[in-house]
Formats: sequence, structure tokens, C-alpha cells
Amino acid sequence: MANSKTLGESLRRHGVTRRGFLKFCSATASLMALPPTMVPAIAAALERAKRPSVIWLSFQECTGCTESLTRSHAPTVESLIFDHVSLDYHHTLQVASGEAAEAAREAAMHENQGGYLLVVDGSIPLADPGYSTIAGISNVDMLRETAAGAAAIIAVGTCAAFGGLPKADPNPTGAVPVSEIIRDKPIVNVSGCPPIPVVITGVLAHFLTFGALPELDRYGRPMVFYGQSIHDRCYRRPFYDKGLFAETFDDEGARKGWCLYKMGCKGPMTYNACATAKWNNGTGWPVEAGHGCLGCSEPDFWDAGGFYNALSIPTSDVTGTVVTGAVAGAALGAAAALLNRGTQGEAREKHATVTVDDLEKGV
Ligand code: SF4
Repeated sequence: MANSKTLGESLRRHGVTRRGFLKFCSATASLMALPPTMVPAIAAALERAKRPSVIWLSFQECTGCTESLTRSHAPTVESLIFDHVSLDYHHTLQVASGEAAEAAREAAMHENQGGYLLVVDGSIPLADPGYSTIAGISNVDMLRETAAGAAAIIAVGTCAAFGGLPKADPNPTGAVPVSEIIRDKPIVNVSGCPPIPVVITGVLAHFLTFGALPELDRYGRPMVFYGQSIHDRCYRRPFYDKGLFAETFDDEGARKGWCLYKMGCKGPMTYNACATAKWNNGTGWPVEAGHGCLGCSEPDFWDAGGFYNALSIPTSDVTGTVVTGAVAGAALGAAAALLNRGTQGEAREKHATVTVDDLEKGV
């Protein structure tokens, strides 16, 4: 397998310039909310890092997670990392098929015992293991076998992280997330339907740089990306605070870009980096396109449904006062924020900034 080369060597061989590499390191530091002083350390660590062997298993899923990653265009942060890992097994992307494909998975496991990363998308059916098989092996058996020698597991997408759509009521396949099968390995959940590509690669970059997974929230998600709600980072928030809401998709409020809370936006209850990392190479995200957040990175988001119903159930704030509408949303959001932090401490909220010229001088 390709572990003999370092990431730095691989990047150079593919024509990535020093400037481009430092730009990537700066963006990575910013993504991980690390101070600019960490950029030289990130550059040095990534330069030396062996190309990690990655085995990617897809179970009950729609291929949306892989689509999300491959829709990115070079030279983005995600392509820089993902083009240079040793992706030794991936149903959708690999050239090999049949016995050759399975031989590649077994070789990667054997040659990198204890050192490879296992990425999983999709949930695992337990009602009958025969519901989903690969090369005649049930998903649950393949997961157990492949996880045994992995250094860590990244559960990509809401299906792998929480069960997702396959687990929605009445859950006919008995779908479960990775964490209900594997209990003895570090697991990081990168939820979202699909997840944001730079979040996937940000976790990989963190692992390569520090040799460990990032700090996680109570749902096993990286705090640096999931530590704040969509609502807290939404550019429409000033309209929410002023009580200015769109009521339909084509009213005056919608045309003026007012808050989408009354149209069912789940931003106050949803933790993800969509508002800052954005989608499609940073060009936009659902709320910017005029549609409320569906809450796809939260557990059981599908069963929660009500995508177009406002979070306006009368409720009580912390003092016991009955509140309604937008005020209830704020209370729910604040309560969810406290819960999300769990025992992991405060989210690091300041994003570092540093110029490439600074780096070229200092690194
Ligand atoms: S409710 Fe939705 S649209 Fe309104 S500020 Fe919050 S996240 Fe943005």
C-alpha cells in the first residue's frame, strides 16, 4: 500500500506548491479554530505524515455522502487532503471489482494493522443481516472485521452517526449507527445529510496533525464544527432578533431576506458549520438559498419531521414564564446549546486568521 510516501512528498509530486500548501495549512488552522501560531506546527506535521491508509465502507446509504465529497473542485481544502490519502477501498470510487476489490480491503487491513482509518457511511441492519451484504458478507460482520484493526473510525453522515433515514419509524431493517456495534474504538461522528466535505477532511487533517481525534460533543461530533448552532452563526439572525420573519416562500419578507423561523427553520436546534463553511465550494447554503434548515445533522431528524412547522410550540423559559413563537425558539436554542456542550467545556469560537505571506516568511 502507499504508506511509504509522506503527505508532503505526495503533494509535491502532484505539483502542489509551497504557497498552496501553506494556504491549505492556514485554512486548516482556521477551520479547526486554532491560533495562527499553530500553523507552522500543522505544516511540519502534515509534511511528515505518512499517507494514511483509509478503508471506506458503505452500508445502508444513498451515496450522498460520497457525492458530497467528490462534488468538490480542486484545489480545495478537501481535495488537497483526500487526493493524497491512500484510499485503499471504496465501493463507489475504486477501479477494482469483485474478488479484486475484497482482496484490496484485506491487504489494506493486513499491511496497516492498527494504523488505518475506517470511514463508514450508512447504517447497519440488524433485523436480518441478510438485508444488506457486500461480497456475501453482512454489513455487521464486515464492520466488525474491518474495525478490529482500525486506529479510529469516522462515521460519515447521519445514517452512520445516528441511523438516519433507514432508522426512521418503523425502521424495517432494524438499522443502527456504527456506535451501537463498535464499542472499543475511538469514533467521531460527522453527521449531516450529507455532511460538509471540509468537515470530513478537517477531521482527517486533525488526525494527521495531532495523531488524535478532535474534542467531541455529547453526540460524538467534533466541537470545532458542531460547537455552535446554525442559528448562532446565521447571517439572518439580526432579522430574527428584530422579529422580522418571512411567512411564505414568496412574500415580501422572503424577498427581503428575513428570518425563516416561521417557515420551519430548525437552525436554533441544529449544530453544524453550514453557515460558515458553506457548500458548493463556499458559495452558499440552504438558508442563503431561501430554505430553512431541516436539522439534518441532529439525531432522529427524519422522525422529528415537521420540516415546515415553526419551532413555536408554547414552552417555558428557564424562569418558568410561558413564552411563544420566536422567543420560544431562542429559549430552545439556548437550552440546546447548554446541552450540546455537555461535559466537553466551551466551544472554541475564535477563528484564526493569517496571511500566506506571513507563513512563507515564518515557516
Ligand atoms: S431561525 Fe433559521 S433563518 Fe432565522 S436566524 Fe435562525 S437559523 Fe437563520
